[in-house]
Formats: sequence, structure tokens, C-alpha cells
Amino acid sequence: MLKKTFSTALLGCAALLMSGAALAQYPTKPITLLVPYAPGPTDTVARIMAQAMTKPIGTTFVVENRPSNGGILAPELLTKANPDGYTILIHHIGMATTPALYRQLRFKPLEDFEYIGLINEVPMTLIGRANLPPSNLKDLLAYIKANSAKMSLANAGIGAASHLCGMLFQSAIQVDLLTVPYKGTGPAMNDLLGGQVDFMCDQTTSTTGQIKGGKVKAYAVTSPKRIAALPDIPTLEEGGVKGAEVGIWHGLYAPKGTPKPVIDKLVAALQAAMKDPGLEHRFTELGAVSYPADKQTPAALEAHLKSEIAKWAPIIKKAGVYAD
Ligand code: ASP
Repeated sequence: MLKKTFSTALLGCAALLMSGAALAQYPTKPITLLVPYAPGPTDTVARIMAQAMTKPIGTTFVVENRPSNGGILAPELLTKANPDGYTILIHHIGMATTPALYRQLRFKPLEDFEYIGLINEVPMTLIGRANLPPSNLKDLLAYIKANSAKMSLANAGIGAASHLCGMLFQSAIQVDLLTVPYKGTGPAMNDLLGGQVDFMCDQTTSTTGQIKGGKVKAYAVTSPKRIAALPDIPTLEEGGVKGAEVGIWHGLYAPKGTPKPVIDKLVAALQAAMKDPGLEHRFTELGAVSYPADKQTPAALEAHLKSEIAKWAPIIKKAGVYAD
């Protein structure tokens, strides 16, 4: 209680310190954008956003990758950052799944942050190394059943989107595979390309190019419908795999106590960036679907986060997966 009062007082001081000229002039230096994974799909969305928000906000962004197992370090770092608008975070669905997955999470998604807004939703693809024998989803399912003891499924640790997708997939087809965690699906992709792991779920932001270039085998998309960027790839549901549908949504967060005028400027920059035709073209190419303008707001991100926490908690509980 005492700690809470003390930290609330500190936040108040930070806001006061920023009052007047600093608030009016914000931003006067580059803004750090924390990314919870090594360079890979989330980093791609982060860099596209950083570039598109630069002009509207009037300063540059420094994209800082702070990878950790499951992406839990970067949100924790945000709780310790100054609430002055110079450190913000991009995160995805992991912000909603980690509370159910971790017994001792060092941040509270619904209490510790200010919300800026939703960005986009990206489907996942189920992909395999180029020389994995099956060539379609039906054959893959049969192959996995026959070889489950020796197959490896890569992910970015408990709490990552790739982990969630892989968990849903294993539970849908009722197999238990060896999973290999990485600090992001970027490094996992390197090992998949090198043939060290067999398959994984990864966002289209990273996989579209590899699939089109024939560097990996694509078996399915995790969206309810096929996606325009990869029209030949069936949905999991088409292949009879039910209950593994998942869309990876991204949002922007600031430390708790960031003054409202600063948040307002960040929201305005987000909304201006999302109108940039270059950004829209890039997202479409990568299979990402932008949220409409009324979702690019703090209230919409908060509401979405709440509903996603409520949606995933029972599913994760049923799967019985936990980390400490
Ligand atoms: N999207 C994460 C990344 O950028 C990994 C994940 O969530 O699975 O690496």
C-alpha cells in the first residue's frame, strides 16, 4: 500500500516535471520503441510504424530489441521507464496470454501501462523446413502422427504468438511434440531454413517472402479465411484442424503516468501513420490487416486487451501450460 502510494506520488512528480514547456515542446529528442523479440515479425511491424510515425510526431524512433523467452522482459522494462513519452512499447497478443501462462509475471497488463492504440492484425502460417517430406496439410498431419516422437516445433518461448499457435495446434490434433524455444521467431526461422528444426507457426510478416521464395513449405494459415497475400494456402479449418484459429494483434503502450498531452500526441502520430498509403501497401503485402481509425485509440486497445485476456485465460487453463 505504502509502495503504491509512493509510486503514485512519483508518477505525479514525473507528470509535474514535464509540465509547461516540456509538454508543449514534446518531443525534443528521439523516442525509444521497445520490441519484445529479436529481429523478426514483431520487429518488422515496429520498424514500419517507427518510420511512418516519424513525420507526424516530429522526431525519430530508436527501435530497441529487448528479447527474452516469451517476450516478457520488454513490458517489464516499460514499467521501469520514465513516464515522459520517450520510451514506448509495441507488443502483440502476448500481452493478453502471459497473465494466464506465467505464475510470476513482473507486470500487470491492465494496471501498469497507458494505452496508445491498436495497430493491425497478422495471421500466422504453419510452415516447415523446405525438405520436410509432406507437401500439404493433410499429409503433414499424417506425417506428424507417424513421427511425433522425433519432430521438433520451434517457438519464441512461452507467451509468444508462435507458442500459442503451436499449443493450439498440438491440442487440436492431440499430439505432444518436442518444442524448441528461441528469443524470437527471427532466430527460429534461421534454424528452420538451416533444417535444424522441423516446423513452426510464424506471422505472415516474416513468412510471406520465404514462402513465395520457396525457402520453406507452407501448410496452412491460422485465419478464418484464406489471405490475399497467400491465396493458395488453405486455412487450418479447411484441413479439419479445429480450434487453432488465432490472429496476432499489435498495440502500442506507454509507461503508467505518461501525461495525457504526450499520449494525445502519440495517438495522433499513430493515427496519421496509419493513413500513410506506403504503410498500408507494406502491411497488405505482408498479409497484415490494419485496424480501422476508431480502434487506433487508447480506449479501444484497453477494451481489446481486456476481452482477449478473458478469451484466452480459460483456453490456456484447459491446456494446462504454465511457466514460472
Ligand atoms: N512475433 C514474435 C517475433 O517477432 C515471436 C512470436 O510471438 O512468436 O519474434
